[in-house]
Amino acid sequence: MIDIHSHILPGIDDGAQTVEDAINMAKLAVEEGITKIIATPHHQNGKYTNKKVDIIERVSKLNCTLQKENIPLEVLPGQETRIYGEIIEDLDKGDILSLNNTNYLFIELPSGHIPRYTEQLLFDIQLKGFTPIIVHPERNSGVMENPEKLLDLVKKGALTQVTAGSITGYFGKKIKKLSMQLIEANLTHFISSDAHNITTRSFHIRESIIEVNKEFGNQAVYYFQENAELLINGQSIFKQEPSNLKRKKIFGFF
Ligand code: FE
Repeated sequence: MIDIHSHILPGIDDGAQTVEDAINMAKLAVEEGITKIIATPHHQNGKYTNKKVDIIERVSKLNCTLQKENIPLEVLPGQETRIYGEIIEDLDKGDILSLNNTNYLFIELPSGHIPRYTEQLLFDIQLKGFTPIIVHPERNSGVMENPEKLLDLVKKGALTQVTAGSITGYFGKKIKKLSMQLIEANLTHFISSDAHNITTRSFHIRESIIEVNKEFGNQAVYYFQENAELLINGQSIFKQEPSNLKRKKIFGFF
């Protein structure tokens, strides 16, 4: 299985702090059935810089360490880029790293809202030949309040990634429900861990697969696993026609 979102690279963001942390995360990833994992350290304007060249170098270092430790996990390069106005300029400068050097790019929205310029920026990213993947939309309150905005972005070519822990209920019932609704409405294309450590922000991949299988069947599990594989190979992923969320009756009306 392939995990496309993780903070396993040590000492550069709020994920693994030491090489030992990274090794422990790698061991747990293998236990969860993960064979390849994309390291996606934060690129958050001002807070964490993590430029492309540094990430690539650190990924190869970590792979050497894992080989020495006999841990059968391959780390691939990536980045989680918080949305900001100059992404295009920095893409041109070579500071922004796509996922495993493909044309897929992670974009993180701020947790509180969807910035007004999002649609234009995602369009510009696509004009540059990249496909933006919005990470964990289920944890964005703008999406929670107005899922139609996400539908609009997906219709205009953006992809999305739901976090495994959201599906298992780790982030609460509301986020779990929204995650399931996003899957049901074909508004998400990937499930991945976004693991930061092995305690408070762990993988939850196995559990999430059980949940997805229970709710949507084996086909859905296969769909997400296949898409992760297509992504790392730079191929076109599977998409189904997205729709609005099916809203269930709330308090007897709606
Ligand atoms: Fe992340």
